[in-house]
Amino acid sequence: MSELAGFNTRAIHAGQEPDPATGAVIPPLHLTTTYKQDGVGGLRGGYEYSRSGNPTRAALQEQLAALEQGTTALTFASGLAAEDTLLRTLCRPGDEIVLGGDAYGGTFRLISRVLEPWGVGYRPIDLGDLDAVREAVAPETTRVVWCETPTNPLLNIADIAALAQIARESGTVLVVDNTFASPYLQRPLTLGADVVVHSTTKYLGGHSDVVGGALVTSDAHWAERLTYHQNAMGAVNGPFDAWLLMRGIKTLGVRMDRHCANAARIAEFLLDHPAVASVLYPGLPDHPGHEIAARQMSGFGGMLSFRLRDGEEAALRVCERTRLFTLAESLGGVESLIEHPGRMTHASAAGSPLEVPADLVRLSVGIEDVEDLLADLDRALS
Ligand SMILES: *Cc1c(COP(=O)(O)O)cnc(C)c1O
Repeated sequence: MSELAGFNTRAIHAGQEPDPATGAVIPPLHLTTTYKQDGVGGLRGGYEYSRSGNPTRAALQEQLAALEQGTTALTFASGLAAEDTLLRTLCRPGDEIVLGGDAYGGTFRLISRVLEPWGVGYRPIDLGDLDAVREAVAPETTRVVWCETPTNPLLNIADIAALAQIARESGTVLVVDNTFASPYLQRPLTLGADVVVHSTTKYLGGHSDVVGGALVTSDAHWAERLTYHQNAMGAVNGPFDAWLLMRGIKTLGVRMDRHCANAARIAEFLLDHPAVASVLYPGLPDHPGHEIAARQMSGFGGMLSFRLRDGEEAALRVCERTRLFTLAESLGGVESLIEHPGRMTHASAAGSPLEVPADLVRLSVGIEDVEDLLADLDRALS
């Protein structure tokens, strides 16, 4: 697999060599916990126990590393399992995490409710304000700058290359949660990030049928430590989940093209709708992060949010009236979803600095025919 091959070629072929034993074109699903040894310590291919290593998971990890242009990818039972493994590898009591003021609610909960009682501090700030970032990052205590871009659910954009420079100068680790963009649209390691995090539950899986997470890095030190912790902490994904993910990932490029095209059409439609107060989509020219997004992403993604003129009641009503857009949490699947972040995905941030507006509705725009999606929204808004 040439490193110079195009994105879709890598998605389809990296880690996906036909099985040497049978010629099976699709890598086999290795449902095994343990491996026969040829004499004590005589491992075939390095495999001894499936928490430590499994060929199906190894194939997925190779595929993901190729897509993010990293040297090492590690996969986990969920996005949050990946984040927990990462943060407990990076941080010690007394360390601090600087994170965006509108980070994913589950990430904020992990940091504020699970890690904080163990002595890891955190500081939510606006990552779009680089002076604020420079001020917040303290060389002695800040261990991690945690960046999500675009953010969930406000679709704010952070400048990854600029944050990487600040992180480098202050000796901190820049982590980018690349779940919303997917590696098809944005590759943070090439912009200077140290570690990329994914909820593979979303666009990478793409079919709303498998929960998973991943870490990708090119830093030899962190790759070694994270590989150690993946095994030592044990939050790995099972082989069937890995196999489903590999299948989903092969069509990531064609899916993302359609997600982007449909979301752009819907953003324009909502912009003109009298019931809508504002549309948050980085593809719109007057979005505050538009220029940076255009520079660091090759498309603007399939997620968009909008605010209703008539407040929370109107937002809840739209969520309950669509038929094609299914009222559900999560995102990134082929089917369109709608949700109310304040009451659903981001309910755990209520009362915190990460609370989201009550009149906000979030769409995960799927790859259905866009005319049908527009008609569904038009009906729900009228
Ligand atoms: C869903 C999500 C996560 C958490 O991933 P899980 O697979 O649900 O554990 C983290 N970050 C972002 C941006 C997400 O959307």
